[in-house]
Amino acid sequence: MTSVVADPTAPLLRLESALERMLAGVTPLPAEEIELEGAVGRVLAEPLAALVTMPPWDNSAMDGFAVRSVDVADATSERPVRLSVVGEVPAGQPARHPVAAGTAVRIFTGAMLPEGADTVVPVEDTDAPWGVADLPTHVAVRQAVTSGEHVRAAGSDVRAGQPVASAGEVVRPATLALLASSGYGRVRVHRRPRVTVISSGDELVPPGIALRAGQIHDSNGPMLAALAAAEGAAATRAASVADDLPSITRTLTEAIGQADLVLTSGGVSMGARDVVRLALESVGRLELWRVAVQPGKPLAFARATRGAGAQEVLLFGLPGNPVSSFVTFQLFVRPVLRRLAGHQDPLARERWRARLAQPIVKHDERRAFLRVTLAPDPDRPGAWLAALAGGQGSHVLSALAAADALAVMPEEVRELPAGAEVEVWPLHGEGD
Ligand code: AMP
Ligand code: MG
Repeated sequence: MTSVVADPTAPLLRLESALERMLAGVTPLPAEEIELEGAVGRVLAEPLAALVTMPPWDNSAMDGFAVRSVDVADATSERPVRLSVVGEVPAGQPARHPVAAGTAVRIFTGAMLPEGADTVVPVEDTDAPWGVADLPTHVAVRQAVTSGEHVRAAGSDVRAGQPVASAGEVVRPATLALLASSGYGRVRVHRRPRVTVISSGDELVPPGIALRAGQIHDSNGPMLAALAAAEGAAATRAASVADDLPSITRTLTEAIGQADLVLTSGGVSMGARDVVRLALESVGRLELWRVAVQPGKPLAFARATRGAGAQEVLLFGLPGNPVSSFVTFQLFVRPVLRRLAGHQDPLARERWRARLAQPIVKHDERRAFLRVTLAPDPDRPGAWLAALAGGQGSHVLSALAAADALAVMPEEVRELPAGAEVEVWPLHGEGD
């Protein structure tokens, strides 16, 4: 049985319409509480306010002597001011000795400012020995310090109750430090999306296995699992399946029993053995097929449900050509995964401008995503120059692997001259 969605004569869907249908009704996965230290890369499920004030009390920004600024107002190297040292306050302990007129307390970076003191003289501005040394009885201050100098005020970083992170924010190493500092040992984050990756094709053998005539290595499987993992998903791979409707249906059914999102590759095109679309129709509801993008046109998308709770499972039938699989992952799977993972803006990604190093011609009205390298533009400091990373056939993995970015060529544009400005989507961090 073929549904109306699977009409090869229908006009291709626009990228945005396809994406809108895929994201419709998709909500972030439930929250779970985890150890803060394991939370890097995870998405916070609730806004967090500081549990403690930081710093909790006024403390010293220097190793030196806590003093009263009025006592040292006239200190110079020619006329140092001599104070008697009445004690010291190490980091991690309460300040025991108040500072009265004419006295000083030796202090260490991060230690509590003693009562009476309003400033700190760095050890370098005194006659006291720096480094490991016994507590001197007196200290000569060689430079005036103003009130509050070298003092980090209580609450000058965050105050208890102040918001420190928002729901939908990714925990980065610095966020982790801020949350630890603000009193958190555990945090609530969205559960990771569970993704199952299925490669389909009679010709596929696992990587590393010698090929017989007609065979190729399964490169989409490892690539798609790695792309999903890089987006924070827990990705597993099913064994690859032959171009056979019952086998694909069986493997899809198993995957639906476990995953939030299933990625197949291959078998969604117009060939006599392209049975994945039929399998998607038999395990769920096919929602769309064929999108106006280049590469990646044959993409299919379906929804299925699991169990009594009718938990929704999203099914992507990605094209078999490896570059098409990669590009459709970026265009469609990534936003859906980001929505499941709880990101504030599932569509957010880096978009830069670059100038073309060479003219480019496009053969139809699909939006094209070219594999390009980026280099600093010698004629324009701070700008990028984009050059084709190699052959633009959707089987050319060597160009994909060499590419720094995808360059976007809009539907209506057929030809671009060298020097034309295009939008580019960087694929990895600079220098990677
Ligand atoms: P298909 O859509 O199944 O006709 O596949 C299109 C092209 O992609 C064919 O050349 C396939 O051999 C190739 N292909 C399909 N699946 C994979 C895969 N998992 N790894 C590498 N190439 C594949
Ligand atoms: Mg195939």
